[in-house]
Amino acid sequence: MFDNLKKVHAWIDADGAYDRGPGPRVSQAKQETMYALSKCMTCGCCVEACPQSNNHSKFVGPQIIAQVRLFNTHPTGHTQKSIRLHPLMEEGGIADCGNAQNCQRICPKNLPLTDSIAAIGRDVTIQAIEDLFSFPDRET
Ligand code: SF4
Ligand code: SF4
Repeated sequence: MFDNLKKVHAWIDADGAYDRGPGPRVSQAKQETMYALSKCMTCGCCVEACPQSNNHSKFVGPQIIAQVRLFNTHPTGHTQKSIRLHPLMEEGGIADCGNAQNCQRICPKNLPLTDSIAAIGRDVTIQAIEDLFSFPDRET
Protein backbone atom coordinates (compact mmCIF):
# COMPACT_ATOMS: atom_id res chain seq x y z
CA MET A 1 0.00 0.00 0.00
CA PHE A 2 2.80 2.45 0.82
CA ASP A 3 4.55 1.71 -2.48
CA ASN A 4 1.30 2.43 -4.29
CA LEU A 5 0.80 5.66 -2.30
CA LYS A 6 4.24 6.75 -3.50
CA LYS A 7 3.34 5.72 -7.05
CA VAL A 8 0.35 8.08 -7.12
CA HIS A 9 2.13 10.97 -5.35
CA ALA A 10 -0.29 10.81 -2.39
CA TRP A 11 0.82 14.03 -0.77
CA ILE A 12 0.87 17.76 -1.50
CA ASP A 13 4.26 19.31 -2.11
CA ALA A 14 5.07 22.01 0.44
CA ASP A 15 8.70 22.77 1.21
CA GLY A 16 7.96 25.41 3.87
CA ALA A 17 10.82 27.57 2.62
CA TYR A 18 8.69 30.70 2.49
CA ASP A 19 5.36 31.98 3.75
CA ARG A 20 2.76 31.13 1.13
CA GLY A 21 0.00 33.09 2.83
CA PRO A 22 -3.39 31.71 3.81
CA GLY A 23 -3.82 29.59 0.66
CA PRO A 24 -6.95 29.16 -1.44
CA ARG A 25 -10.40 28.95 0.13
CA VAL A 26 -11.91 25.46 0.20
CA SER A 27 -15.67 25.19 -0.22
CA GLN A 28 -17.68 23.41 2.46
CA ALA A 29 -18.67 20.66 0.01
CA LYS A 30 -15.01 19.98 -0.77
CA GLN A 31 -14.10 20.08 2.93
CA GLU A 32 -16.75 17.46 3.67
CA THR A 33 -15.50 15.20 0.87
CA MET A 34 -11.88 15.60 1.95
CA TYR A 35 -12.66 15.02 5.63
CA ALA A 36 -14.38 11.71 4.87
CA LEU A 37 -11.43 10.58 2.72
CA SER A 38 -8.82 11.76 5.23
CA LYS A 39 -10.12 9.30 7.84
CA CYS A 40 -8.36 6.39 6.08
CA MET A 41 -5.95 4.69 8.49
CA THR A 42 -4.29 2.47 5.86
CA CYS A 43 -5.54 -0.65 7.64
CA GLY A 44 -5.76 -2.61 4.38
CA CYS A 45 -9.19 -4.17 5.07
CA CYS A 46 -10.56 -2.91 1.75
CA VAL A 47 -7.64 -4.40 -0.15
CA GLU A 48 -8.07 -7.74 1.63
CA ALA A 49 -11.78 -7.79 0.74
CA CYS A 50 -11.28 -6.79 -2.89
CA PRO A 51 -11.48 -9.76 -5.28
CA GLN A 52 -9.26 -7.89 -7.74
CA SER A 53 -6.38 -7.40 -5.26
CA ASN A 54 -4.02 -10.30 -4.62
CA ASN A 55 -0.37 -11.27 -4.88
CA HIS A 56 -0.70 -11.93 -8.61
CA SER A 57 -2.48 -8.67 -9.41
CA LYS A 58 -1.01 -5.23 -10.01
CA PHE A 59 -4.30 -3.53 -9.07
CA VAL A 60 -3.55 -0.60 -6.75
CA GLY A 61 -6.77 -1.16 -4.80
CA PRO A 62 -9.59 1.08 -3.59
CA GLN A 63 -7.69 2.88 -0.83
CA ILE A 64 -5.19 4.31 -3.30
CA ILE A 65 -7.95 5.55 -5.60
CA ALA A 66 -9.68 7.26 -2.65
CA GLN A 67 -6.43 8.97 -1.65
CA VAL A 68 -5.94 10.24 -5.20
CA ARG A 69 -9.41 11.79 -4.90
CA LEU A 70 -8.46 13.36 -1.55
CA PHE A 71 -5.31 15.05 -2.82
CA ASN A 72 -6.81 16.03 -6.18
CA THR A 73 -9.81 17.65 -4.45
CA HIS A 74 -7.53 19.99 -2.49
CA PRO A 75 -7.04 23.23 -4.51
CA THR A 76 -3.24 23.07 -4.15
CA GLY A 77 -3.09 19.33 -4.81
CA HIS A 78 -5.32 19.82 -7.85
CA THR A 79 -2.45 21.57 -9.65
CA GLN A 80 -0.68 18.18 -9.77
CA LYS A 81 -3.74 16.09 -10.57
CA SER A 82 -2.31 14.54 -13.74
CA ILE A 83 0.70 13.15 -11.82
CA ARG A 84 -1.76 11.17 -9.68
CA LEU A 85 -4.15 10.21 -12.47
CA HIS A 86 -1.58 8.87 -14.93
CA PRO A 87 -0.56 5.82 -12.82
CA LEU A 88 -4.27 4.96 -12.57
CA MET A 89 -4.45 4.86 -16.38
CA GLU A 90 -1.81 2.13 -16.58
CA GLU A 91 -1.95 -1.62 -15.95
CA GLY A 92 -3.15 -2.16 -12.38
CA GLY A 93 -5.04 1.12 -12.46
CA ILE A 94 -8.70 1.97 -12.09
CA ALA A 95 -9.81 -0.13 -15.07
CA ASP A 96 -9.00 -3.25 -13.03
CA CYS A 97 -11.80 -2.52 -10.53
CA GLY A 98 -14.55 -5.08 -11.02
CA ASN A 99 -17.14 -3.02 -9.08
CA ALA A 100 -17.85 -5.81 -6.56
CA GLN A 101 -18.18 -3.10 -3.86
CA ASN A 102 -16.77 -5.33 -1.08
CA CYS A 103 -14.41 -2.49 -0.20
CA GLN A 104 -17.24 -0.11 0.63
CA ARG A 105 -18.93 -2.65 2.89
CA ILE A 106 -15.82 -3.59 4.85
CA CYS A 107 -14.16 -0.20 5.48
CA PRO A 108 -14.18 0.44 9.27
CA LYS A 109 -13.97 4.19 8.65
CA ASN A 110 -16.85 4.24 6.16
CA LEU A 111 -14.84 5.92 3.44
CA PRO A 112 -16.90 6.63 0.31
CA LEU A 113 -14.84 4.17 -1.74
CA THR A 114 -17.25 3.34 -4.55
CA ASP A 115 -18.15 7.04 -4.96
CA SER A 116 -14.44 7.76 -5.17
CA ILE A 117 -13.87 5.06 -7.77
CA ALA A 118 -16.69 6.56 -9.87
CA ALA A 119 -15.39 10.12 -9.43
CA ILE A 120 -11.81 9.19 -10.29
CA GLY A 121 -13.07 7.10 -13.22
CA ARG A 122 -14.59 10.29 -14.66
CA ASP A 123 -11.40 12.27 -13.95
CA VAL A 124 -9.28 9.62 -15.69
CA THR A 125 -11.50 9.84 -18.79
CA ILE A 126 -11.18 13.65 -18.83
CA GLN A 127 -7.42 13.35 -18.35
CA ALA A 128 -7.19 10.93 -21.30
CA ILE A 129 -9.02 13.44 -23.51
CA GLU A 130 -6.79 16.29 -22.30
CA ASP A 131 -3.72 14.16 -23.07
CA LEU A 132 -5.02 13.53 -26.56
CA PHE A 133 -5.13 17.25 -27.33
CA SER A 134 -1.95 18.29 -25.56
CA PHE A 135 1.15 18.41 -27.71
CA PRO A 136 4.73 18.49 -26.45
CA ASP A 137 6.41 21.88 -26.72
CA ARG A 138 8.07 22.30 -30.08
CA GLU A 139 11.64 23.54 -30.29
CA THR A 140 11.89 26.95 -31.96
S1 SF4 B 1 -15.41 -2.05 -6.05
FE1 SF4 B 1 -14.84 -4.21 -5.85
S2 SF4 B 1 -13.21 -4.55 -7.36
FE2 SF4 B 1 -13.44 -2.34 -7.08
S3 SF4 B 1 -11.96 -1.83 -5.52
FE3 SF4 B 1 -13.90 -2.21 -4.43
S4 SF4 B 1 -13.85 -4.39 -3.87
FE4 SF4 B 1 -12.23 -4.06 -5.42
S1 SF4 C 1 -10.55 -0.18 4.73
FE1 SF4 C 1 -10.97 2.02 4.79
S2 SF4 C 1 -9.59 2.78 6.40
FE2 SF4 C 1 -8.83 0.78 5.81
S3 SF4 C 1 -7.30 1.17 4.18
FE3 SF4 C 1 -9.27 0.80 3.18
S4 SF4 C 1 -10.12 2.86 2.88
FE4 SF4 C 1 -8.53 3.04 4.45
